[in-house]
Amino acid sequence: MPGSSTVTVHADREVLPDRAVAPPIYQTAAFSAPDGDTFARAAVEPRGQDFYTRFGNPNHARVAAVVAELEGTEVAMVTASGMAALTTAVLALVSAGDHVIGQRSTYGGTASLLLNLLPRFGVSTTLVDQTDPEAFTRALTPRTRLILVETPSNPLLQITDLRAVSELARAHDILTMADNTFATPLNQRPADLGIDVVWHSATKYLNGHSDVSAGVLAGPAGLLDRVWETGLLTGAVLGPFDAWLLLRGMRTLPLRVPRHNENGQALAEALAAHPAVRRVHYPGLASHPQHKLATHQMSGFGGVLGIEFTDGFEAADAFLGRLRYARRSASLGGVESLAVHPASMWRGMLDEEQIAAAVPPGLVRLAAGTEDTADLVADVVAAADAVGGAVGDTA
Ligand SMILES: *Cc1c(COP(=O)(O)O)cnc(C)c1O
Repeated sequence: MPGSSTVTVHADREVLPDRAVAPPIYQTAAFSAPDGDTFARAAVEPRGQDFYTRFGNPNHARVAAVVAELEGTEVAMVTASGMAALTTAVLALVSAGDHVIGQRSTYGGTASLLLNLLPRFGVSTTLVDQTDPEAFTRALTPRTRLILVETPSNPLLQITDLRAVSELARAHDILTMADNTFATPLNQRPADLGIDVVWHSATKYLNGHSDVSAGVLAGPAGLLDRVWETGLLTGAVLGPFDAWLLLRGMRTLPLRVPRHNENGQALAEALAAHPAVRRVHYPGLASHPQHKLATHQMSGFGGVLGIEFTDGFEAADAFLGRLRYARRSASLGGVESLAVHPASMWRGMLDEEQIAAAVPPGLVRLAAGTEDTADLVADVVAAADAVGGAVGDTA
């Protein structure tokens, strides 16, 4: 098996061989066929690339070839966003009367799908504390059809025991899906641990340059055929140029991720030792309550950390205002550092009680980019010094 850096450069070469070194962009909505039989076959080919771009396009197929190889799955497919990947897959895999188990600490869109959308269609849901594998067992019902996990979770960096969840699910004939956005396949391969379908917001690390919204799904052909069919109806198709940009971003994923890991670890260590900080949530810290589990199922811990300031909401907000490199933004996973204060960002979306249940008021989510480690560490320490620093300090 070639290594990941070779995979991201070469795994798509056989998708549609030609002599161009950089892949052509198939900026076309439709394809023509030489005869009726060929056309009829092209129309039903799952994730094909010869019929109509909503059904599949060579630029999609190239991304999918690389993702499947990186995640160690039979096939993969692309969608217009991470949320499109999730919603399409869930609509494909569950029906009215079914029950779905999700996590309490999870991406906001995933929580909303579980709490608001699915119940409207007669699918019941239970959200569990994913740090306790027994909680998944307790949530099982005879109608449970799917378990949705996310590890590390956004924004609390909690870890889910992927092996324990997949074994439980298999024993009860339940499907599992894992959001692998934070870890990337470089740091964690959920399919190797028995998870059925792996999905990503490719908007984040896979693309890595904050210039594309995209999603990917990876798993066995039988399941993804069903997801592809539902995708024809949800219609959340990735534009060919965006697929081309995503592939271009993925070429360097194995070069970027080690730097994100290094920066995440260095920032977590520097801030954990800072007097203004109550706690740093980062699975690479020995003080993370699930550090041991994280080291078992991950080979690196990523670039995202949660920083909880002792002085709460005001300190977190002031910290963001003082950072020189990380800008205030809801995204993550790009080459540039970004940071967000969830309790502040969510004020228009959720009521106070919901915010308090989801995050501590003084939590900042910092996503380390690929800048020089020393520059980022000096910047966050200076910003933390200022917020937790001497009274009257206005530097
Ligand atoms: C951003 C994000 C999503 C949603 O992806 P979009 O591409 O924005 O639709 C899902 N899960 C996680 C963990 C994310 O960070």
